[in-house]
Order: sequence, then C-alpha cells, then structure tokens
Amino acid sequence: MRRRVVESDVCIIGSGISAAMIADRLARTTTARVVVVEAGDNTVPLGQRAAARDRFIRYGENPWGRDHLEGYEIEGPLQSRSMQVGGLAMHWGAVTPRFSPEDFKQKTLYDVGTDWPIDYDELDPFYQEAEEVMGVAGEQGPPELDPRKKPFPLPPIPLTYNLELLKDWAAKSAIPTWSQPSAKNSVAYRGRPQCCRNDTCSPICPIGAKYSPDFTWNALLASKRVELMPRTLVRKLVLADGGKTISHAVASSFDRPDTPVEFRAKIFVVAAGYVWSSHLLLLSAQSGASDGLANKSGLVGKYLSGHRNVGGYVDLPLRLYPGMNEQHSLVTKQFMRPRPGARFIRHDLRIWESSVGKTARLVDDSGALMLGDAILDDWRKRTQTGTARVRAYYEVIPDRSSELTLDTGKKNQWGDPLPKLSFQDAPESVAERGATEESIRTLFNEMARAGKGTVLRTSVDNFQDHPAGGCRMGTDGSASVVDSWGRTHDHENLFVVGAPTAVSGGCANATLTFCALALRSARELERDLPKR
Ligand SMILES: Cc1cc2nc3c(=O)[nH]c(=O)nc-3n(C[C@H](O)[C@H](O)[C@H](O)COP(=O)(O)OP(=O)(O)OC[C@H]3O[C@@H](n4cnc5c(N)ncnc54)[C@H](O)[C@@H]3O)c2cc1C
Ligand code: SF4
Repeated sequence: MRRRVVESDVCIIGSGISAAMIADRLARTTTARVVVVEAGDNTVPLGQRAAARDRFIRYGENPWGRDHLEGYEIEGPLQSRSMQVGGLAMHWGAVTPRFSPEDFKQKTLYDVGTDWPIDYDELDPFYQEAEEVMGVAGEQGPPELDPRKKPFPLPPIPLTYNLELLKDWAAKSAIPTWSQPSAKNSVAYRGRPQCCRNDTCSPICPIGAKYSPDFTWNALLASKRVELMPRTLVRKLVLADGGKTISHAVASSFDRPDTPVEFRAKIFVVAAGYVWSSHLLLLSAQSGASDGLANKSGLVGKYLSGHRNVGGYVDLPLRLYPGMNEQHSLVTKQFMRPRPGARFIRHDLRIWESSVGKTARLVDDSGALMLGDAILDDWRKRTQTGTARVRAYYEVIPDRSSELTLDTGKKNQWGDPLPKLSFQDAPESVAERGATEESIRTLFNEMARAGKGTVLRTSVDNFQDHPAGGCRMGTDGSASVVDSWGRTHDHENLFVVGAPTAVSGGCANATLTFCALALRSARELERDLPKR
C-alpha cells in the first residue's frame, strides 16, 4: 500500500490551546522543525465571524461550521464534541484564573487526594508566559489570596455599573471581589482589537478581541515556523528500541483515506486533550505494550478530574440594567483556602449581573395572558429589583475509577474503538459532597440576607467541568503516567501535555493551568532541540 512519510524534529498531535502554547514557545526558542497533526477541519476564519454571528442571532445557526467529526459520539459526560483546528478553546469563554497554591498540596494541607509533584511557585512563570501569549486582562486580587510575581499583561476588563453595585453587595458579607481575569483584550493587543462588549463571547467573538488558538496558529503559519496538517487523525504510535522510544505515528487523512500517513520525529507530543490523549495511548497497544503505551502503571485513562458547581440566582433591591456585559463577572478566592485541619470544603465564587426574571413577558406568574399596558406595568414592577447570578465551583477529589476505557461496541470508520468515559468521586469527596453543597447554599442565603434580598433558586450541575486527567503526573512511575514535565515514565521521547497530566481539578476554570503546564513541558523539550 502507498503511504506518505512526513519527517520533523517534533510531532505535536492535536492543535488545541495546549498544543498552540507548546508550538509558540518552541518557535520562539528553537529552530526545530515542528509538525502539528489535527484530526478536525480548519476553523471559521476571523473575517467570516461577524457574518456567522449574525446568522446565529437571526436563525440560531452554529457559527462554527464543521467543528466536529461525524461518527465520534461517545458514551459518558463529554464536555464538548468540538474537534477542529484550535480545539475546544475555539468555543471557550476565555475565563483565565490561576489555580491557588493549595490546589497543588491537598494531601499535605488537608490529608485528601494526592499532592502534585510541582507547586504554585514553580508554575508562576509559566502562568505569566501563558497570560502574555493569550493577552490576559486582570485585576490583582489581595496578594494573600491571589499571589503572583508580575502584573497581568493587560489592565482589567472594567467593571460595569451593575458589577460595581454587586461588588458593594458582596462587601456587605465581608467578601472581597475583583474583576475576573479573562483572555479578552481590555486594550488592543498583538494585532487584535479591544473588546467592545458586544457580549457574544459565547458562541463567537466577531472581532477577535477574545483569544483563541487559531490566532497563534495563523501567526506561526504565516512565519513558516510550523506545519499544520488538518483532517488527519493519528491512530497509533509505534515503538522502537525495544519499547524505549517511539519511532513513528500512523495517521489517516479524511481526504485521502486510502493513503496512510507516517509521521517520523525525534520527539512526539500528545496534546490531544483529556479524552483523546489517553484514548490514543490505549489504542496504541502493541507487542511490548499490550495494555497501551506509557501504561506500565495501568493508570492511562484513570483519575479523570474536574469540579462540580452549585449555582443560584439572588433577587436584590438594586436597580441593575442587565445586558451591559453579562459574560463578565466578579470573582473571589476567599473560599479556596480552608484552614489546614479544617473540613475540606473548597470553592471559588463568581458573581454576574443577570436578566433572569427581568425580561418582558406575555403571561404572568399565574399563567394568565397579559395585553397592552399590563405588559409594561408588569415589566416595570419586576425591574425595580435586580438579579445576581452566583456560582461556586467546588473541588472533587478524583477516583481511580473515574476512567476512560475503549468502547469495543463503538468504532470509527477505520474500525478503531471509540472511548467511553465515567466519572466517580473519591470516597473523601463522596463523604463531603452534601456538606459542601449545603455550605455553598448557606453562603448564598447569607449573602442574600446581607443585601436584603432573597435567593430565587439554586441548582447543582452533576457533570464535572473543565475535565482533565487520564495521564496524571507524578514522581513515582508506578503511581503516575508522566513526570512533572509531561515526559512519559515508559518512553523517553513521548510527552503528554496539558489537561491530561493534571493530578486534580482544582476549583476554578482550569485551562490557564493546562497552558502553564504545557509551556513548562516545552521548556523541557527545548533541551534536546537546536537553539534559536
Ligand atoms: C463551551 C466551552 C466553554 C469553555 N470555557 C472555558 C473558560 O472560560 N475557561 C476555561 O478555563 N476553560 C474553558 N473551557 C475548557 C477549555 O476549552 C478546554 O479546557 C481547553 O480548550 C482544552 O484544550 P486542550 O488543548 O487540552 O484540548 P482540546 O481543545 O480538546 O484539543 C485537542 C485537539 O486534538 C485533536 N485530536 C484529538 N485526537 C487526535 C488524534 N488522534 N489525531 C489528531 N488530532 C487529534 C482534537 O480534534 C482537538 O482539536 C470551555 C470549553 C467549552 C466547550
Ligand atoms: S464582549 Fe464582544 S468583543 Fe468582547 S470578547 Fe466578547 S464577543 Fe468579543
């Protein structure tokens, strides 16, 4: 059979945000030939996004076009089916908090879960670097809660009038809040314009003020620092040297399915996200690695992580004007820091303006139809007060049985089994779940009372957000899949980077942490590559 061979120094599998960080750093610091392989299609170019947004608003069309692969529906709680150049972060909200120092030391501080092999201080410069690549706008919180060595690259996104009022409301409960860090341009940055608050960050920013990985890819492609091959699915990594190294990756192109592509490289970097990274390692089972690559520990696909949330709406005697910037929020890290020895309840807290209960309606609370002035009277009455949306992500300790396995009942067009996911809390999280959710609800009630308001409703999302894990990092090869740099314990030229390497899910949006981890991996990769 004919095959195509592509050679490089570094072959990166996947083109999501973690891959973009690695490629960007390697382009700055080395002259290595970097090839990026992406299963999905090219994404909608920036120039077409304003029109795509219009069609979304008018007709509810998906503004992202072909952003997923047909036939890749999998079992279990999947965060998104998105597979395209740029990965999931083409759709993200660009909310970019750092983890807190406690996230890396839960065993030492609270005697639950597992400590990470690195701490916050080690990651600080890589957080900073990721913030600079993306352009994170942020406000420094109180340093004891929100430590950082250098200022944010961009000034904070200004608080709207509504958020100023809600900040005063939180202060009544002695909760300090600040502007949520976000990868949105508070001022023009790296050729992209300032955010003009048109409030459609989800599903699409029409002007490119919100960072997405395609901007990094476009710059790298324009300067010919990487080659990117979309619509090409890596299906297997093949061992050499008696199992010590990877010699090549075997891929199939969706455009030329009959001509396999063979990627030969000195270093292979699996940057395929929390689902597809473990999946590829398991799919690559072969002689000498019968349970999959990098899997001597038996932990590939295990310890999937994330965090759950309790959310709510609070009616407050405040004249809020929803629609000013409903996607932006206040944040506090006050509740991420229980005292050592105290009960293990850790969560963030965010506050948004909300239009819940404040839009015009045609039927009243009893279901009766309203006509003419009755509609306006009802609307005026209900907007005498304002609604705050509150939400707390709380930490869930991952269990070994939170896992990704191969689903032999479901296969792709080449006959490879698809993955199957299941999430399970570790026993210490099962024991604390009720108390944690009750504690958050109590907090919402106390905050409502302090503002002379009432909680309208609360809810718990059962899925775990910002999923990660599956190839957790550690120093002990029998208890982890990769070292702290992402190098697999079993194969010296195989790295897994970003989300899959996380030890636990923390209690804040996690992608900035995945990016910082990926940049730290890139620093290790540089050692074996020609310097720029
Ligand atoms: C709607 C939405 C909103 C979000 N908002 C936020 C937010 O505000 N803040 C935050 O912190 N996080 C947010 N997230 C999460 C965030 O988007 C992800 O954590 C992040 O994008 C993961 O990046 P990644 O590089 O690890 O993987 P991915 O983005 O999953 O990238 C992996 C890429 O690899 C490709 N791939 C997989 N397997 C193969 C293979 N075998 N061969 C070739 N290519 C392959 C995939 O097609 C994909 O493009 C959000 C997610 C969604 C869906
Ligand atoms: S508010 Fe508008 S301009 Fe700003 S990031 Fe969101 S969509 Fe883009």
